[in-house]
Amino acid sequence: MSSLMAGAMSIVLFAAHRSFPSEIQGLQHWAGGLLLLVMAALLYSARNSGPILGDIVVLMANSVLLWGIGLAMIGTQVFYGQRPQWRLFHVVWAVGMAGIGYSLFIESDFTIRVAIFSFLVSIFYCSQLWAIIRHGESHFSTTFFAALILFQTLVVLTRGLLVLFGGEYTDLMRPGYFQSLYLATSNFMVLLLAVGFMTVATRRLQAILERRSTLDPLTQVLNRRGFADIYAKERALLQRNCDHLTMLSIDLDFFKAINDSHGHLTGDRVLINIAKVIGKVLRTSDHLARFGGEEFVVLLPGTGIERALSVAERIQGAIKLPCEGIKKGSLLPACTVSIGLACQMDAEEDLDSLLMRADKALYAAKDGGRDRVEIADALAPAMRAVRA
Ligand code: GH3
Ligand code: MG
Ligand code: MG
Repeated sequence: MSSLMAGAMSIVLFAAHRSFPSEIQGLQHWAGGLLLLVMAALLYSARNSGPILGDIVVLMANSVLLWGIGLAMIGTQVFYGQRPQWRLFHVVWAVGMAGIGYSLFIESDFTIRVAIFSFLVSIFYCSQLWAIIRHGESHFSTTFFAALILFQTLVVLTRGLLVLFGGEYTDLMRPGYFQSLYLATSNFMVLLLAVGFMTVATRRLQAILERRSTLDPLTQVLNRRGFADIYAKERALLQRNCDHLTMLSIDLDFFKAINDSHGHLTGDRVLINIAKVIGKVLRTSDHLARFGGEEFVVLLPGTGIERALSVAERIQGAIKLPCEGIKKGSLLPACTVSIGLACQMDAEEDLDSLLMRADKALYAAKDGGRDRVEIADALAPAMRAVRA
């Protein structure tokens, strides 16, 4: 049954490896590891094929089993972004083969064999547990997976110790609490551990998809949806703190001409660079989004018109600085931006209204000759300024 479950989970994990984004690593190692567990079980079933041949088969089965559990360790390590411990994998395998080979062919001793195998396998489990703890992710799925590995480590270690110090526990067919617990866990843990890993992988998938749905794929800044979420939070704070919330609507001047004369690829590069340049001017508490095309929007929480104007001017200045192009030594085409600035002081105003006011100011900047900042309407008529 446990071999069947391992086989089924191997297929599930392999299918997930094929369909999940490439950022999710380690699924293929787990799929391979589980397949090796099935192969080890098949080999064990042929262990009664004669005295010498039977021992060779047992040694091979133990080897395949160590590979399988070791490969799952590698899978967990790469999943959590750590360097896979291939050296540990090979050392544990080599020690295992030497010890189990000795207890099979030189001094036939089942107790030693079980103890060696249990301790070596628990090294693989401990390494996985360490990889999870070092990563430090705090989520139910991670805790669940870590708890399963911890439980498995304890059961395997207990088996190793019990066979060393209490001979009666060696024979798993004898009735007893530990024997029952061990048989039940060793059968179900194969499935549970694979399910545990699949749970953390699915959680990672969910986080990646959530992040992707709020980011602009070209520039990696927020998209309209991500920006709307952030705005909603900042507006709620504005309602509580009676502060300012200022928006900059930024549009590249004559961007079509850049595309036409330098090509779309260079145009894309310019957009990526603009996002980077604007990001550098902003504080970590400010927010930048690209609403498609060559239009960016900036949200400046706790910022009044005067400071927002200075931020807008710094953005204009930084964009004018030369930047390295696609080819080494080449420069990206120079460009300028027009900026519309709208300050929200009324907590009841919504995103559409604020955007509309900022866009209106942006159109005014375009009409006024481009490469300038315009401040939106009624809220700050005294501050209205035209900057060339
Ligand atoms: P204006 O100063 O009036 O804003 O002129 P403009 O040329 O910047 O504006 P217009 O709306 O005429 O053209 C915008 C151009 O932006 C047209 C389109 O080809 C280009 N564009 C939109 N999205 C992308 C993109 O993702 N990559 C690239 N390379 N170009 C884009
Ligand atoms: Mg434009
Ligand atoms: Mg535009």
